[in-house]
Amino acid sequence: MIKFTEKAPYAPVEYLYDVEEILHRGKSKFQDIMVIKNPYYGKMLILDDVVQITERDEFFYHEMLTHVAMHANPNPKKVIVIGGGDGGVVREVLKYHSIEKVFFVEIDEEVINISRRFFPAVSSGVDDPKVEIRVMDGAEFVAKRRLSDIDAVIIDSTDIIGFARTLFTPDFFAAVRNCLTDEGMFVTHTESLHFHKDMVIEIQETLRKVFPVVDLYTAAIATYPGNWWVFAIASKGLSPREMRHAFEIETKYYTDEIHSQSFMPKGMYERLMRRQLAW
Ligand code: SAM
Repeated sequence: MIKFTEKAPYAPVEYLYDVEEILHRGKSKFQDIMVIKNPYYGKMLILDDVVQITERDEFFYHEMLTHVAMHANPNPKKVIVIGGGDGGVVREVLKYHSIEKVFFVEIDEEVINISRRFFPAVSSGVDDPKVEIRVMDGAEFVAKRRLSDIDAVIIDSTDIIGFARTLFTPDFFAAVRNCLTDEGMFVTHTESLHFHKDMVIEIQETLRKVFPVVDLYTAAIATYPGNWWVFAIASKGLSPREMRHAFEIETKYYTDEIHSQSFMPKGMYERLMRRQLAW
């Protein structure tokens, strides 16, 4: 059987996957796009040789990236999803009855199209009438917004490299703050606590310069190098640790219990930020 070796930009390891079939191989204006079939994970979306999602485990990441912020906000109506061309986060956001509008801002239209074709269960929400697709850089979209009417901004980008870098700058974080309501939530992935601890800390520090409340929660993701995946979450005042409406949606992994258990214990968080966790 042929093999696919993942080349994640910051990982000190390489993962090797069996390939039953290469279903698609192409190049967009922005990146190489490949879809392969693995005996365990099923179809896998790969961008620039980095695994993005797999049919079997995508829900862990998409649920955890979406539902913590959506429950920490009292009544999410308007959401911006940046990146996430596969549509997984959009599908999760649409589970809330309160949702009126989703701005889905993906720089690479080809990722949306490939996902419609090969991952219909993931991209099922992208053509919903509440979803407005904007094909552009998410940083530019947020910088141009003049209203503070967004309840959650969710970043589902590729690794912090190349064109995804615009989504991790202080200017971008400040622009996000400006478009959020007073109860709005911002969430982004910030790689792994095993392999990328310094990056995790630096992003927390940058966010702290912009947002009064910054926190961190984690989830185990089998297909992302380092596995112990970190989500940075920030707000203008509300603690994201608290749920502000009942858990009433259907999920496979996220629950109200997972919401509170996924946050880093406060003492450990302080030690992390004082750079006292040595590994
Ligand atoms: N869950 C995945 C992961 O962490 O590996 C990410 C999945 S999603 C496919 C990532 C998407 O982010 C890609 O389709 C990429 O084109 C998009 N992206 C990267 N930088 C972006 C930017 N600055 N603005 C909008 N979309 C961006």
